[in-house]
Amino acid sequence: MVPKRRAKAPSTPSCRPSPTPSSTRWVFAWTACRFTRPACGRRYTRRGWPEMLRIAPTFEVLRPETLDEVVNLLDQHGEAARLIAGGTDFVPNLKHGLYAPEVVIDLKGVSALRGIEHRPESLVFGALVGLHEMETDTRVHAVLPSLSRAASLVAGPQQRRMGTLGGNLCLDTRCVYINQTEFWRGALGGCLKKDGDVCHVTVTGKKCVAAASNDTAPVLISLGATVELLSPRGVRHLPVDELYINDGIRNLALGHDEVLTRVFVPRPGPQRRMGFEKLRTRGAIDFPLLNCALAFDLDEAENLSEPVLIFSAVAARPRSISQLPVGRLDAALIAEFGQRAFASVRPLTNINADVDWRREMVPHLVSRAFEAALGRASATPFSLSNAR
Ligand SMILES: Cc1cc2nc3c(=O)[nH]c(=O)nc-3n(C[C@H](O)[C@H](O)[C@H](O)COP(=O)(O)OP(=O)(O)OC[C@H]3O[C@@H](n4cnc5c(N)ncnc54)[C@H](O)[C@@H]3O)c2cc1C
Ligand code: SF4
Repeated sequence: MVPKRRAKAPSTPSCRPSPTPSSTRWVFAWTACRFTRPACGRRYTRRGWPEMLRIAPTFEVLRPETLDEVVNLLDQHGEAARLIAGGTDFVPNLKHGLYAPEVVIDLKGVSALRGIEHRPESLVFGALVGLHEMETDTRVHAVLPSLSRAASLVAGPQQRRMGTLGGNLCLDTRCVYINQTEFWRGALGGCLKKDGDVCHVTVTGKKCVAAASNDTAPVLISLGATVELLSPRGVRHLPVDELYINDGIRNLALGHDEVLTRVFVPRPGPQRRMGFEKLRTRGAIDFPLLNCALAFDLDEAENLSEPVLIFSAVAARPRSISQLPVGRLDAALIAEFGQRAFASVRPLTNINADVDWRREMVPHLVSRAFEAALGRASATPFSLSNAR
C-alpha cells in the first residue's frame, strides 16, 4: 500500500507547533515559535495551529482630523505609514501578512474628504464617499448611471456600507497566488509581489501581472474623470486613466506620501450614454472575473459616435479597447464592438475561473453593457449560474 504523503511544513521544516496545552482562552492566545535557530517568528495558537488571520499589534493607529495633519503624518513616517479608509481591503490584506506598516493613518475622521458636490460642469466626490451612498444617491444615479451601477455591484452590502470610493480606486491588485494566508503562500515560496522571486502566472515568471479588480476604476476612466492628489509637495490632478501603471506589484502612479482627496467627474452631455457590466462567480460579494465600462454619444438618428470601452480584471491596469467602430447603432455594430473586445482581452490564470470561458464571455459582457447604456439593463447579476 502506498503510504499517504504528509503535508510538509512550508518554509521551516524543523519548525513545529507549540506543545503548550490549550486553555479556555486559547482562541485569543498565541505563542511565538521557539523551535528553530534563529526562531522563524511564526506564531501559533496554544492549540498548536499556525496563527494565520489575526492582526499582530505591531503598528500604531493615528487618527488625523484635517488634511494638513494627514500630509504631515505622511511626510513624517514615509513608507512606514499606510492609509486606511473603510478598511474592507486593507484589513484582509493585513491579516494575510501582505503589509507590515509601522503606522496606520485612519482617514475616517477627516471631514474634508466627505460629501458629493453637484457643480454645473462636474460632480465632485470626496475620497471618503461611501459606495452605498453612490449606489443610493438618486442624483448621482440620474447623471452617472454607470458609476452608480458599478458601486452597487461591488462586493456585498456590508462592504459597500464600509468601503469608500478612494479605497476602491486605490485597491490593491489581486491574484489567486497572493490573496492567501502567509502559510499558504509560504508553501510555494512566495512570488514576485511578496516574499519570492518568481511569478506563478506567466511563462517567463519575470513580471507581476496581478489584476486590477476595482469596479469603479473602468467606469471613471470611461467618463473621463480626474483625481486630486495631495502630498507634502502640494496638490496635483491626474486623469484616472493615468492613475494606473502596468505593474501588479503596485499598480498606482501614486507616491507613498500622497493621499487621494477628490474625484472630479465631468457632467455628461445630453447625448452621452453609459453602461457598466460585471461578470462574477456568484451574483453578489465576489470580485470581478471581468468588468466592462462603456460610454458613447447617440444622436436622434441613432448614430453612435465617440465610443469608449474599458475592460478590467484582465491585467494590472484597466485596458482600453481601441479602433472601435462608429455608425448606426444596430445589432451588427454591437457585435463588432464585441469582436474588437474579444481580440484585445486575454484573461490570465491569476483569477480563479477558466480563462477560455472568461474570454468567451467578453462579447456577452459588451452587449449587456449596451443594454445598460440604453436603459434596458437586466436586474439579474451576470454570474456563473446565468452566463451561458
Ligand atoms: C468579500 C469582499 C468582496 C469584495 N468584492 C469587491 C468587488 O467585487 N469589487 C471591488 O471593487 N472591490 C471589492 N472588495 C474590496 C473592497 O471592499 C472595495 O474595493 C472597497 O471600495 C475598498 O474601499 P475601502 O474604503 O474599504 O478601502 P481600504 O481597505 O481602506 O483601502 C484600500 C487601499 O486603498 C488605500 N487608500 C484608501 N483610501 C485612500 C486614499 N484616500 N488615498 C490613497 N490611498 C487610499 C489604502 O491604503 C489601501 O491600500 C471586496 C472586499 C471584500 C472583503
Ligand atoms: S501575478 Fe505572479 S507575481 Fe503577481 S501576485 Fe500573482 S503570482 Fe505573484
